[in-house]
Amino acid sequence: MNLDRRFIVAMKKITIAGGGISGLAARYYLSKKYPNAEIVLFEKSNRLGGCIESCHSPFFFERGPRTFKASRAEPLLNLIDEVGLSGEILYSSQQASQRFLWKGGKLQTLSPFSPLVVRLIPALLKEWKQPYLCDEDETIANFVSRRLGNYAAETFFDPLTLGIFAGDIHKLSISACFPELKAMEREYGSITHALFKKKKRKKRKGLFTLRGGLQTLIDRLVEQGRGKIHLKTPLTTLGKEERVILALSSQGMKKLFAKDKRMREFFHSVEEASLSVVNVAYSQDLLKKKGFGYLIPSSEKENILGVVFDSALFPLQNQTSAETRLTVMLRSGGIKAALEGLQRHLGIESAPSEVHLKVWKNVIPQYGIGHLKRVQAFESHLKMHYPQVTCIGNYINGASLNHCILLATQVS
Ligand SMILES: Cc1cc2nc3c(=O)[nH]c(=O)nc-3n(C[C@H](O)[C@H](O)[C@H](O)COP(=O)(O)OP(=O)(O)OC[C@H]3O[C@@H](n4cnc5c(N)ncnc54)[C@H](O)[C@@H]3O)c2cc1C
Repeated sequence: MNLDRRFIVAMKKITIAGGGISGLAARYYLSKKYPNAEIVLFEKSNRLGGCIESCHSPFFFERGPRTFKASRAEPLLNLIDEVGLSGEILYSSQQASQRFLWKGGKLQTLSPFSPLVVRLIPALLKEWKQPYLCDEDETIANFVSRRLGNYAAETFFDPLTLGIFAGDIHKLSISACFPELKAMEREYGSITHALFKKKKRKKRKGLFTLRGGLQTLIDRLVEQGRGKIHLKTPLTTLGKEERVILALSSQGMKKLFAKDKRMREFFHSVEEASLSVVNVAYSQDLLKKKGFGYLIPSSEKENILGVVFDSALFPLQNQTSAETRLTVMLRSGGIKAALEGLQRHLGIESAPSEVHLKVWKNVIPQYGIGHLKRVQAFESHLKMHYPQVTCIGNYINGASLNHCILLATQVS
């Protein structure tokens, strides 16, 4: 009898804590793996979804995640397919491939022949000659400056890292945040060499979302998973449960393990970035340039990290043929700072028809240098002292929904 079969027979009760995508995906997969087990899920807040929050009021907004690269979204796409939501997948419009950078006080196009990108060509041509240093972890800034120069680090990787992690390239780990780049250097000696040599697998292209919002995935998971869900019921201690899946935010983990020194140290090393999300809608088409949106390098000293042109990215989520929906991500501040930024960057003077502010406090885990090694030590400690517990979530090895879902598929 293999291990899984034995568990199917023996497993009686599974406790899951956390009702974000990690916890709900784990509940769904465990329901299928162990049809006889009693599953119970505890969620601290009064709603499910965690970072996922879609809203129709009447304009459509996502307050949290919204876009996924089809070429890197296998776990998410598989889950969407399994719960019967494939028909809801919405691919981005053609114009979404157009991206911008707010730099030097103007909105500049990012395309192969735009001045910003052309300036990178000499560094790209020399990159294969840069020596391979070592396997040691280093900051994103260090790695990129070493291989492609400071211009690439400050102009492209700085805003990219702000856009994905709301984080600082001078602090975050290349191995944890962009492991594929570090692997290219290790395996091929250079990024350019790797790009030429690597076998090109046929991959799905473009960006996608779900037509009715990501909340539809959460609702489907609730329906198709099994077991009682208790809202407003935080897990505060670990008792004598047979099997526990902790799918908490790192903040939640910090509190739960406050008395365990090793756990405290690990979670202390994972700082979390906060950000404000301002969703703005206008009843007219006000975008002079269409595209995905723009990011802002930190050298511009702006409070805004970036702006997503939602109405141009996924026009099928628009309620009318002429509307503008934008999402402004800020380090801090609120509606006033967002509208002032839109006026300055995009020339939008009109008063919006709808505006919402969501402040996400301590929400995006920051993987500092050495994060992956610390995760290994954390997992060994867990195995030794809490053998009934498995931890999943976005503080481990990736903040995207894909990373979260992949970990949930592995829970047994
Ligand atoms: C603004 C924003 C935009 C993003 N955009 C994207 C994107 O475009 N693409 C992408 O792939 N990813 C994106 N992400 C990242 C992604 O959304 C998150 O990493 C992911 O949703 C985390 O899911 P999770 O279930 O692990 O954690 P969470 O969503 O944080 O859920 C954890 C849950 O645990 C609960 N909890 C905490 N403590 C306890 C306790 N003691 N007992 C019980 N419950 C507890 C919390 O209330 C919460 O509901 C974005 C994140 C944010 C904030």
